[in-house]
Amino acid sequence: MSFVPANEGISKLKPYQPGKPISELERELGITDIVKLASNENPLGCSDRVKQAVAAELAEIGRYPDGGGFILKDQICAQFGVTADCITLGNGSNDLLEMFARAFVAEKDSVVYSQHAFAVYALVTQAINAQAIEVPAKGFAHDLDAMAAAIQYNTKLIFIANPNNPTGTWFEEAEFEAFMQKVPASVIVVLDEAYVEYFPENFNSLKFLAHYPNIIVSRTLSKCYGLAALRVGFALASKQVTDFLNRIRQPFNVNHLAMVAAVAALKDEDFIEQSRVVNKAGMNQLEQGFQSLGLGYVASRANFILVDVQADAAQTFNALLKEGVIVRPVGIANHLRVSIGTETENAKFLSALAKVLDLASNAVEGKA
Ligand SMILES: *Cc1c(COP(=O)(O)O)cnc(C)c1O
Repeated sequence: MSFVPANEGISKLKPYQPGKPISELERELGITDIVKLASNENPLGCSDRVKQAVAAELAEIGRYPDGGGFILKDQICAQFGVTADCITLGNGSNDLLEMFARAFVAEKDSVVYSQHAFAVYALVTQAINAQAIEVPAKGFAHDLDAMAAAIQYNTKLIFIANPNNPTGTWFEEAEFEAFMQKVPASVIVVLDEAYVEYFPENFNSLKFLAHYPNIIVSRTLSKCYGLAALRVGFALASKQVTDFLNRIRQPFNVNHLAMVAAVAALKDEDFIEQSRVVNKAGMNQLEQGFQSLGLGYVASRANFILVDVQADAAQTFNALLKEGVIVRPVGIANHLRVSIGTETENAKFLSALAKVLDLASNAVEGKA
């Protein structure tokens, strides 16, 4: 057998493990009423306005999309008060995360990110053979002081998620300001805000963008906006940073239907508000459920929550699958991440969890 060598980082790379698709579990179990709370998707799906907008554009499929993304950038400008030369569009924000690493980091350079951070940060760093500096988390959260202290002479980029996935932890503006004061202007700071729409009062990243030309704010339409299948994200940054990103961006990385959908989704503020309300109610429902089962959890400002199942995570995950509930093991011992679903989905998950952990009787007797 002939040997085809990949670069060292890629040959050692363990690919991203996505949440298990519903269709896959259906095939395996031969059942149909499966609840998927594994990928932080919006349980309401997407806005009806998105469906109408996409349906109206189906005839355009035969043409290449607008590589400049005019309609989507126009909407982002109107909504976020930025100019088009500060926007980079991505095929989901994963596409952008990879562009950030490729644009600013070379082999011999290093990238700083936190323990328990989004798995893709490690993957894009390794794929370009750069050095990863993983900073121990504080509790489950980013330790911004330690991350600033971890910066080396060769550090080119820092990945930060606020709130963080998979822990749901967050930080406030004052902490971030103190952090930015310590970061050299030549180091790119990526502020990944995939979940910002759920608790927007938490943090105003646009304010920071105006003061720090080394910040990139990364947003996605996959979570609260409900467009996960279409793959759209965008980055906001200084003109100079944006210019570099757009040099390496694939010319047609965001497709036409995705852009049309994104414009409709960004405009539909009622849908976002409704999604927030459902998320808050579901978060309460799960927190109360965990409390009555005597399980600990990590307070979250996203659309998922990390629960301490006090049992082996992989075994509990597999037992839940047999009950028709898909959640997510995230490499943290005894913990599972569960996305907030509808009231019915959350209830099904909680009763399945009680069953597989055999806690129901304890909870009823008040022993747990
Ligand atoms: C889900 C997620 C993303 C990206 O999702 P895309 O679908 O690629 O836009 C990025 N960052 C974090 C922290 C996420 O949780």
